[in-house]
Order: sequence, then C-alpha cells, then structure tokens
Amino acid sequence: MTSAVDEGRRAVPSILRGQKALVTGANSGIGKATAIGLGRAGADVVVNYVSGGEAAEEVVEEIKSFGVRAYAYEADVSQEDQVVAMVARMVEEFGTIDIMVANAGLQRDAAITEMSVAQWQKVLDVNLTGQFLCAREAAKEFLRRGVVPEVSRSAGKIVCMSSVHQIIPWAGHVNYASSKGGVLMMMQTLAQELAPKGIRVNAVAPGAIRTPINRSAWDTPEAEADLLRLVPYRRVGDPEDIANAVTVLASDLLDYVVGTTIYVDGGMTLFPGFATGG
Ligand code: NAP
Repeated sequence: MTSAVDEGRRAVPSILRGQKALVTGANSGIGKATAIGLGRAGADVVVNYVSGGEAAEEVVEEIKSFGVRAYAYEADVSQEDQVVAMVARMVEEFGTIDIMVANAGLQRDAAITEMSVAQWQKVLDVNLTGQFLCAREAAKEFLRRGVVPEVSRSAGKIVCMSSVHQIIPWAGHVNYASSKGGVLMMMQTLAQELAPKGIRVNAVAPGAIRTPINRSAWDTPEAEADLLRLVPYRRVGDPEDIANAVTVLASDLLDYVVGTTIYVDGGMTLFPGFATGG
C-alpha cells in the first residue's frame, strides 16, 4: 500500500528535467530540502556544505534515488577562491549550471552593545558576500552558455535565500537583518542588470521554518506558542514549504517572474500585531 506522501512524491512533475542546479548549505534544513526537491523535479544537483560532509553525502544518496546525478562539494561561500573552484568543478562535471540557489546562511546574535566586529563581519561575509560570489560565478557561466531552448526559456536562474527580515527589523540581530536587507537590494539590482541577458534573479523569503538555525524558537511548547503569535496561519513552516517555492520559481512555470521576492511565511509579513491592535 502506498502512503499519501508517496503518492505526492510521484505526482511531482519533472519540471526541471535536464537542468543542473547548485544549492549552497544543502546538508541541513532548508538547503537540504531544496536540493532534494530540485532532484525530485528532475535536476542534477551539487550539494554544497562547509562542515557537515556526512550529512551532505546522505542528501546526495537521496537525490540519486530519483535517477538524477548528484555529488557533494565542500566550500566556504564567503571565500572567493572556493566559490570560483566550486562552480568551475560543476561545469567540468555537469557541463554547465542552470540554477544557483544561494541558500547558505547563519546567525551570530547579540545586542548591539555586545556585538563584536567578528560577529558582524561573519554574518555579512556568509549571508551577503557569499550570495554575491555565488551569483557572480553563476552569471558568468549563464552568459557564456546562453539560452538552450530545449532546457529552459532563460539563460539561467539565481534564487537568493532571503528572510522576512529583509523587511522586518529584528532587535538583537542587527547583523542578520542587515545582511538580508542587503540581499533584497542585491537581488533586485542583479535582476535589473541581468534580465536583458535572459537571466532571472529572484528571492525566496522564509518566515519561521523548523530548522537547526532557530531551534530555540520552536523546541519547547512555550517557545513555539510564543513564535506562533507572529504567524497568522498558526503553524511553523517545514523546509519543504520553501523547497516547493524554490522548485517552481526556478522552473519555466514562473519564467516571467523577475526581480521578485516570494514570501513563504504563513503571513508573518502581514503585521499580525495589527489584527487586534492599532
Ligand atoms: P541551517 O539548517 O542551520 O543550515 C544552514 C546551512 O548553511 C548549513 O548547511 C551550513 O553548512 C551552511 N553554511 C553555513 N555557513 C556556510 C559557509 N560559510 N559556506 C557554505 N555553507 C555554509 O539553517 P536554515 O534554516 O536551513 O537556513 C538556510 C537559509 O535560510 C539561511 O540563509 C537562513 O538565513 C534562511 N532562513 C531561514 C529561516 C528559518 O526559519 N529557518 C528563516 C528565514 C531565512 P554546514 O552544516 O556544513 O556548516
């Protein structure tokens, strides 16, 4: 007997068949679900990680079970030489890249009076410079190769993993919120610059998703109840909620979507405090 989940998996159309995708930070949380989602939709996938190699290999095995190619690649996205080498290896291995999902990210939280320059810089380096480097290297290959109509209507897709904190200020997290605010303007500027060349740049902005990055916000009933006050739809999101949005956004189904952020947040950006106040 097959479960509803199995049925659902089989029902996913191969909307990315023949495309080559790279997902950064793909051994955990949202990146992992996204890499698996892209593979299930027919793409060959590079699973980037920086420290968790074993977990990355497990993701690779799951992706390969869909009959597509995958391999894991260690690189720190904040290091220019490592990102350059990662994309060059992908072009060698898979021939090209069609989809770059710049997902890797981290938090180093502190009140402003306690935040060190190292904490500030680390978050900016990974969350913003890392996405810039990944977008730049992908764009070079998209431009070199151009449109291949049998594969996709566009010359390439860049999906930036942003956050609701690209527009919602977040006390105690000034480094993180600033990095995501930067991602918004970087994404829009790159979209404006690259759209005439057939490249689509967009972002997905998750709300509260159940992953290791924010464990303390959901791992006790009290914390989860507190968190859900901020979510009109009253559930914490799953990594697959984000993976589904990225998969469709990267496909030709959304070929006319350029320079946009898709918020996947259960309504967190609807200013829920105003439902009863104001
Ligand atoms: P996560 O489970 O902690 O995953 C973070 C990933 O980033 C890991 O795979 C980690 O790899 C990787 N990473 C960290 N530093 C890296 C570096 N220098 N180079 C390459 N990879 C690096 O967190 P997540 O929730 O899935 O977060 C993924 C993205 O979603 C982030 O950009 C985050 O800001 C965004 N986001 C998450 C939420 C949420 O509620 N979870 C909400 C909004 C936005 P290793 O394990 O190898 O270190």
